[in-house]
Amino acid sequence: MDHPPPESIYSVTCTYCHQKQLVRTEGKFNIRFMHTQSIHCVKCDAEFNVILPYQIIGKPSPYLSATAGNDSR
Ligand SMILES: [Zn+2]
Repeated sequence: MDHPPPESIYSVTCTYCHQKQLVRTEGKFNIRFMHTQSIHCVKCDAEFNVILPYQIIGKPSPYLSATAGNDSR
């Protein structure tokens, strides 16, 4: 029986527009990824770098609380 590898969610902040967003990573520590990985901001589409010891999977998603859709701006 195999099971999917554990994953982790990290919140990162865009260095340009300071939009918080979530990235999914592999849960397995991997020293090869202990350097910058680039992310495309979900908001301003700029590319910024983060340093995580885990490989990022897929695209970042917007940082939403449980009250998503309740943006009162
Ligand atoms: Zn941004």
